[in-house]
Amino acid sequence: MDFSNLKKLCELGGIAGRESAVRHEIARQLRPLAQDLRSDALGNLLAYLPGSTSQKIILCAHMDEVGLMIHYIAPGGFLYFVPVGGIDPRTLLAQRVTVHTAQGPLTGVIGTKPAHITQPKERTQAVPMEELFIDVGLPAEAVAQRVAVGDFVTLQRPFEPLGEGRLCAKALDDRVGCFCLLEVLRRVRKPKVGVHIVFSVQEEVGLRGAGVAAFGLEADVALAVDATGAADIPSCRPQEYLTRLGGGVAVSALDAATITPQWLLEELWALCRTRQIRSQLRIAPRGGNDAGALHRSKAGVPACALSVPVRNIHSNVEVADEQDIAATVDLLQAVLETGFQIKE
Ligand SMILES: [Zn+2]
Repeated sequence: MDFSNLKKLCELGGIAGRESAVRHEIARQLRPLAQDLRSDALGNLLAYLPGSTSQKIILCAHMDEVGLMIHYIAPGGFLYFVPVGGIDPRTLLAQRVTVHTAQGPLTGVIGTKPAHITQPKERTQAVPMEELFIDVGLPAEAVAQRVAVGDFVTLQRPFEPLGEGRLCAKALDDRVGCFCLLEVLRRVRKPKVGVHIVFSVQEEVGLRGAGVAAFGLEADVALAVDATGAADIPSCRPQEYLTRLGGGVAVSALDAATITPQWLLEELWALCRTRQIRSQLRIAPRGGNDAGALHRSKAGVPACALSVPVRNIHSNVEVADEQDIAATVDLLQAVLETGFQIKE
């Protein structure tokens, strides 16, 4: 599988509510693949691919990533920020970031008080986010001319292969889902089911875009394609892993926002079995994704999340496994070619 498009998508900057660069790129790629391309008032990108039967499904991936917004420019030109989405302050210190200004991107670094003048106790604790600042290396007057309160900030990291068959990047959550959707649309040109394609906004701040997008759609099943946390690390017990890297596509039975109907779960498992697609069950008592908004749209739509496991999720060193991504695309392909036996 060629991951160059995933690299392109991950390296774009787009926090919740500021997804336009991602939307423009996906729209460019989607135009030859589907019909009725449009965006709505919130910025969701929608399109449709007709199927050979009357069954219709929604495939949804979110375009936004976690990030920051400048809320105060201190004397000296230091930029203070608030989080947009669930970003862990422990992961921010000493990172490179991109400040997206009206005049273009600026690289900055996140600093705090030097360790030499802190108390020993302070050094054992995470620095609170309100004590971190961005330094863009410019005099205060130049900062005042180029940076505005309200500018958004993304983590900065080149997409790179890691070890064997692993990929490391920022924003794999959820550009990897966007990549899988585009990939399956390139593969399956004449699906059995009609496909409402949704690239949603503002998932990271509470599933705000997907519900609005689905409101206008008639569908029998909805699938959210997202990244999910993999905690298969030494400091966690196996029952805390949530998902494992290399374990295949994670089919969700339950998370804090959705409980997948039993019949839908069984159909997805059956597709994995017959097509020999590596898969794992995801049960996550906390956290949710766009499936949570999709299943409550209109009079209700049976929904499930299909996820790519990602270590260090919501940081700039998110790690995914190429085989898990391939398995996710394979399962989407099976769905498009087979459809569902809808049950109650
Ligand atoms: Zn996500």
